[in-house]
Amino acid sequence: MIYNDGYETDGNLRFVKCPRCGNEEYSPDAEYCRICGFPAYNECEGSPEYDEFGNNQGFHIHRNAGNARFCEYCGKPTMLFNEKLLKPYNEFYEDQQEEEFALPFETNDGIPF
Ligand SMILES: [Zn+2]
Ligand SMILES: [Zn+2]
Repeated sequence: MIYNDGYETDGNLRFVKCPRCGNEEYSPDAEYCRICGFPAYNECEGSPEYDEFGNNQGFHIHRNAGNARFCEYCGKPTMLFNEKLLKPYNEFYEDQQEEEFALPFETNDGIPF
């Protein structure tokens, strides 16, 4: 299945429309929404990276797709998930199942006898 409840992003994974306020105007180098200050990218919480000697190479944050609850690179929760702008997968999944089951009943209700 496709989790199609995400937010549209451009080729650089930047939001086309701000997920919080709906603003669509971003400057080419924008990192945040100019209207509400919301981040322009669905970034993960980040995780420290280590070199081959175990030295901390700093904190690495990754940009993810607009429907990513968790980072595809380090597995940490994303900003959209932490801000509750994306439902946990099980809630979305259950909603989808309910819609599928609900459909025949709705159709039957409309049939006159
Ligand atoms: Zn905004
Ligand atoms: Zn990450």
